[in-house]
Amino acid sequence: MSFIQSLFDLIFPERCVGCGCRETSLCDVCLQKIPKARKHDASWIHSLFSYKDSRMKKAMWLIKYKNRKRLAKTFGQALHDLMLEELSEYIQFERAPTVVFIPIPISRKRLQKRGYNQAELIASSVCTLLNNPHITIENNLLKKTNETKRQSHSKSRRERLKNIIGSFAVTERCDPRSIYILIDDVTTTGATLIEARKILKENGARKVKAYTVAH
Ligand SMILES: [Zn+2]
Repeated sequence: MSFIQSLFDLIFPERCVGCGCRETSLCDVCLQKIPKARKHDASWIHSLFSYKDSRMKKAMWLIKYKNRKRLAKTFGQALHDLMLEELSEYIQFERAPTVVFIPIPISRKRLQKRGYNQAELIASSVCTLLNNPHITIENNLLKKTNETKRQSHSKSRRERLKNIIGSFAVTERCDPRSIYILIDDVTTTGATLIEARKILKENGARKVKAYTVAH
């Protein structure tokens, strides 16, 4: 952690974005109050909370830009609760029950600047909680190949899709027997997830789903 970051933490200690309590950046009580996300057009994308909620927006900003990594545990726990039932069913009934978590990668440049990928932290937190030998996490299977403009800067849905096309690649073939689960912090139009899923499917994956904390 940088000196400036440590100083920032000292001046602005971790406080809940909802109620201001000193427990964490988003306490469980406030998390429960955040409205649920509306359903996606694509049935394979599942999101938990509404990104329209100001507390959620602020928490996402903190985990992304202010080093509040403990939020990954909070979000990981919430996603774990959502996934648990569905994943247990898969593992019980599918013949080749390997589940592979794929955090949506960020570009190398952004990773160097930030020091971590928040999607990776969230995915790893869910994986640890699930604690199942059939469930693994692959941080390097999917790569971001070029720097895309920040999604929020390009407005229309079509523009966003165009912006993201061709920005992912895989480092090895996918196993058609595995279930791949893309994990990200936020999805707005779903463009990133759609493109990532397309690349995995072009490279052998059969079943690809996605889970995000907010939408
Ligand atoms: Zn709170």
